[in-house]
Amino acid sequence: MSESSSSFRNFAARLLDYEGVLVEHIEPEGLELLAPAPVAKVLHISELARLGFAAELPANAERVGLESDWLERFGHLLGARGQTARVVLPIALPPLTNAERVVEHTVNLQNAVYRVVGVTPAWTRYLIMLFRVTAFSDEKRDGVIKLGFNLVNGSTLDAIVDELLSSAIETAGMKKSPPMPASLPPGWSPVQLKSRVARALPERVESHLAPFLKGMQRRLDRDLRRVHGYFDDLRAESLLRLQKQLAAEKETARERLRLEAIAREYKAKVADLQQKYALRVDVAWSQTLEVVTPVQRVEVLIKRRKGERRIRLDWNPLARKLDVPPCEYSYTQSPVRLVCDDKLHLIRPAAHAPCASCDKAYCRACHPLQCPKCHRKEGATPAIQFGED
Ligand SMILES: [Zn+2]
Ligand SMILES: [Zn+2]
Repeated sequence: MSESSSSFRNFAARLLDYEGVLVEHIEPEGLELLAPAPVAKVLHISELARLGFAAELPANAERVGLESDWLERFGHLLGARGQTARVVLPIALPPLTNAERVVEHTVNLQNAVYRVVGVTPAWTRYLIMLFRVTAFSDEKRDGVIKLGFNLVNGSTLDAIVDELLSSAIETAGMKKSPPMPASLPPGWSPVQLKSRVARALPERVESHLAPFLKGMQRRLDRDLRRVHGYFDDLRAESLLRLQKQLAAEKETARERLRLEAIAREYKAKVADLQQKYALRVDVAWSQTLEVVTPVQRVEVLIKRRKGERRIRLDWNPLARKLDVPPCEYSYTQSPVRLVCDDKLHLIRPAAHAPCASCDKAYCRACHPLQCPKCHRKEGATPAIQFGED
C-alpha cells in the first residue's frame, strides 16, 4: 500500500466527514460512504457508495486517485474554498553534513566553477500548482500535472513534489497549525508567476502525454498501413486488368476511371484518419497549494570568468534532496546548466543556442524577446526544442 494512496484516503475521509458524509474505512484501502443527496450529486456518486484508493479495490468500489478526475470532484465539493491553500509543515530539521558533496551531486555547471560558502537553517515557501490536462484524439486521456517552484530561487520541484503534496495533505487535517515563521521569501508578482508557468508547462505537458502520443502514433501507423495495403491491392488488380485489356479501347477507359476513383478514395480515407487522430490538448489550472517548510539553505558562490554570483539552494529534509538550480529562462526539468557571461544567469544549454538567422549564441534570460545582434524575434519558430539537452 503506498503512502500517498493512504494519505489521499485520509484526506478524502476528513473532507467527506466535514461535508456531513458518514464515512467508514474498509479494506483494502477504501471508504464506504453514506452521503447526503446534494453531496452525492456534486461527487457524481450514489448516496451509498464505496471508494478505493489503492491498486487493489474493495468489492464494488470506484477507483479514486490523483490521476483520475476525483481531484476535480473534491474541488467542486470545496468550491472556491479549496482552490488555494497554505500549509505549514512542522518538520524536524536535521543538520546537513557534507554540503559540498550534496551540491556536487546535484549541481551541473558546464562552464563555471563554484564553492559552497555556507549552510544555514531557514524557512522557505513552495508553490505547487495542479493543472488538469485533457487530450482528445481517437481516445481521451485525463491527467494531472503538478508544477512546483521554490519561491526563494525559482527552482522547480519535479523531484520532490509528490512527497510535499502528500505530506501537506496529511498535515492539513491536523487540528493546530504551527505558527508562521517570521522570515520567509517574498511572493512572486502575478506577471512573474505567469511567465514562469508559461515556460515551464509545455515541456511537462509533453512528457506527461508522451505515452499517450506514442500509443496514438502506433494506432495511426497501423490504420494507415491497413488502408494503404487495401488500396494498393485494388490498384494492382486494376493495373493488371488494364494491361490485359489494352486492345479493347472502351474497357481501358473504364479501367482508367476506376483507377482514378481508387486514388481519390485512398486520399479521402487518409484524410479521415488524420481527422480521427487529430490531437487537441486542454490544460486548465485547478488548484494552488503553498507549502511553508524548514530547509537547510546552502549558499553557493559561482564564478564565471571575472564575474561572481551567489545563489541559494535549499535542502529539503522531507525528501532529503537539494534544489536543482533553475534554468532562469525555461524552468526545465533537465539538470545541465550554463552560466551566461553578462549576468551569470543559470540556463539550460538550449537557452544559449545560436540565433537561427545570424548564428550568434546568446542568453535567452538576458534577451528573452529578440537576438541582441540581428534583432530576430524569439517565438516566430520555437527557439527551444524541448527534451534536447
Ligand atoms: Zn541573430
Ligand atoms: Zn543572461
